[in-house]
Order: sequence, then structure tokens, then C-alpha cells
Amino acid sequence: MDVCSHVKVVVRVRPTNDNEKCENFRNVVQVVDNHMLIFDPKEQQITSFGGPRVQNRDVNKRVNKDLKFVFDNVFGEDSSQVDIFENTTKRILDGVLNGFNCTVFAYGATGAGKTHTMLGSSNDPGVMYRTMTELFNQTHFINEQSEFKLPKETSQQIRDLLANVGPLAVREDPSNGVVVQGLTLHQPKSAEHILEALDYGNRNRTQHPTDMNATSSRSHAVFQIYLKQQDRTASLNPNVRVAKMSLIDLAGSERASGTNAKGARQREGANINRSLLALGNVINALADPKSKKAHIPYRDSKLTRLLKDSLGGNCRTVMIANISPSSKSYDDTHNTLKYANRAKEI
Ligand code: ADP
Ligand code: MG
Repeated sequence: MDVCSHVKVVVRVRPTNDNEKCENFRNVVQVVDNHMLIFDPKEQQITSFGGPRVQNRDVNKRVNKDLKFVFDNVFGEDSSQVDIFENTTKRILDGVLNGFNCTVFAYGATGAGKTHTMLGSSNDPGVMYRTMTELFNQTHFINEQSEFKLPKETSQQIRDLLANVGPLAVREDPSNGVVVQGLTLHQPKSAEHILEALDYGNRNRTQHPTDMNATSSRSHAVFQIYLKQQDRTASLNPNVRVAKMSLIDLAGSERASGTNAKGARQREGANINRSLLALGNVINALADPKSKKAHIPYRDSKLTRLLKDSLGGNCRTVMIANISPSSKSYDDTHNTLKYANRAKEI
């Protein structure tokens, strides 16, 4: 089932962590099947942590929202990195090989599992590494060349995470599309080489401790792969095709107001909100067939300017919305589900 052919929206629920198990939290996400989940279901439907729960008879207790959401895919707590890759990114890779720009991004609050999904760890790598391994495998036979770059945006500034320099400017170029000026391009020799570079780049993301989460990441990390394919049989008039694959670990979607952030940190939070809002608006405009020719608000943020030639048109987009199953993240999860639901609306 394809809810929307252009933008595929999936949800990944991460496992409950020790912190959420120990304290008095409950599970508020019920995965019904591969396409449906219920947020804040009626108490008796929850059978997690051993057996059905006793109905809560507290008269002051608010009514459960019991909201059903349908997505292109819903991945439960037991889903593996391979499940995610095979059912999201791998399916659009043939698009890249055919010369189309493709984009995969992980959306969600800090701690919801975005970096785990996109980067992962060396013994359980995520979408970025698996994409490169797959591209290496598939392009080996046709003798291709690939380049990759890793810029990131923070407070509406773009930095090169592999050269650790910035801010860099975004320009639009008639032949190359959107380019980041001065960004370094690397030609990795192996998938292992990429894993090292990704890890290095991720460590160069500035992380400011906030009251809410000490490792909250307040920047978007954008990993772009340029795949240049040349038809070697046509040597006189080589037919060169360049496709861009963008893999993005977005900044935490929680609102800046909830973090007790002040001054520069608060402005940074407002910028993150602005760029995530702009991204949502662009995707929503693209998903609506009525607005095919209407104005698509790419210019509203640096993030959407950077992705202008990677969203819309012949591009394929996958959004992986990451959520925690716990009531501890009740509002964040509700907001993420609403954002994801809006992205798929036609
Ligand atoms: P985010 O990048 O959204 O802030 P992380 O990816 O860093 O969140 O995840 C927070 C913590 O939860 C990390 O310790 C991570 O390893 C763990 N985690 C997230 N998703 C999963 C998962 N699907 N399976 C196991 N652990 C996970
Ligand atoms: Mg992260």
C-alpha cells in the first residue's frame, strides 16, 4: 500500500529504555500492524509489561486520545536496522541509479532514535552506511565513480563536517543545481572508509548540553552522495547522469520553549523550529496534487533551499518519523505523529 507515491512516510518506534521502564511511565504507542498504530490507546488494549492492565478508575483521569494513524509502514520496537533499510531506502535506490535525486530523512524529538536509524553504530550500522554498501555493490559492475559530502546546518548556518569549516553559502547553479560553496568532496574507496568519515562528521556536530537532554543535537546533519554515471559504450558523446542522494539526520523536533533554553540556545531552537516547519510546508505542498504548479516555499529556510533539487519534481522522498513508546515523551510523540501525518496528506 502506498499512501502517497511521491513521499513515503514511515514511523519507527524505538524500544523502551531503562529510564522509562523504572519510573512510572506507561506505553502509549500500540503498533496494530505494518501500517497502523494507535497513540494513547484505551487502557485495556495495552498488554505490554506482562498481561492486560487493570482499568484505571481515577475519575480525574483524562480520557485517552485513542488516535489511529496509518502510514506507508510502521516499524515496531523489534524492528532491526536491516528491516528499516530494506523497506525504506533500498526501495528508492534504483531511482538514484536511474538518475533521480532521492532524499531520506529522520524526524523526531531528541532521544527518539534518529541518529540510531541514520548513523547507527559500527556493529549495527544504519541507513547511511547500508546505502553506501548497497551502492558500492550495485555500481561495482558498471564501474562507477562516487563522491560524497557532508554539510550540516545549524542556526541557519552550513558547516562542512568533514573539513570542520564554515559557514558556507548555498548557491543555485544552472548546470549543477543547488551547491554549497567550498564544500569538500570525497571519493571513498570502500564502505569502511565511509563509516569512519560518517563517525568523524557526526562527532563534529556541535552538541550543547541543555536542561532537557545533555546530548541533544541541535543541528541537521546532511549526508549527500553524488552518483555520476557515464555510459562507457558511447565514447563520442558520453551520456553523463548525475543523481544526488541526501540522507539527513534532522535536529531534535522538540520545541525550544520546553528546554529552558536562553539567549543563543533559544535562538538556535527557534531556527530549528523554523527549518522543520519549512520542511513540513514544502513536503506538504509537494504532496498536494492541487498545488502542483503552486508556489513551493523552498526559500523559507536554509535547509529547504539546500534540498530544493532533492525534494519534488522527479525526486523520491522517504520520511522516517522516530518515536519513543513511553508516556514520558507523550507530547513529543503526539507532535511527531501529527507532523508525519501531515507530510503524507494528499
Ligand atoms: P536521537 O538521535 O533521535 O536523539 P538516538 O538515535 O541517539 O536519538 O537514540 C537515543 C538512544 O536510544 C541511543 O542510546 C540509541 O542507541 C537508543 N536507540 C534508539 N533507537 C533504538 C533502537 N531502534 N534500538 C535500540 N536502541 C535504540
Ligand atoms: Mg541524534
